[in-house]
Amino acid sequence: MTRRLFRYVPFTIEQDRTAEPEYEARCVSGDAADCGACSGTYSGPAPVEEWQRTHTQATGHRRYRRNFGDYAVLRPAAEHVRQHRPAANPVR
Ligand SMILES: [Zn+2]
Repeated sequence: MTRRLFRYVPFTIEQDRTAEPEYEARCVSGDAADCGACSGTYSGPAPVEEWQRTHTQATGHRRYRRNFGDYAVLRPAAEHVRQHRPAANPVR
């Protein structure tokens, strides 16, 4: 049996704030096949929900698949401490 040694480096995982998150919804109503109508991609949920309400009013379709995507950045914990002192990061 071989032993592999890794130096353990603790990482924090943060949302990458330089990249906008992505929200979208696709209509999956329909018997034989999904309707497939898509909201398009937005950086927040509100326009997607508005599109869903409009689509439901126009078609009677009520079932959607929602997709959310964002970007994550891993940062070594030591670097995190150096760059984010408590005074500079009052969130929470
Ligand atoms: Zn539809």
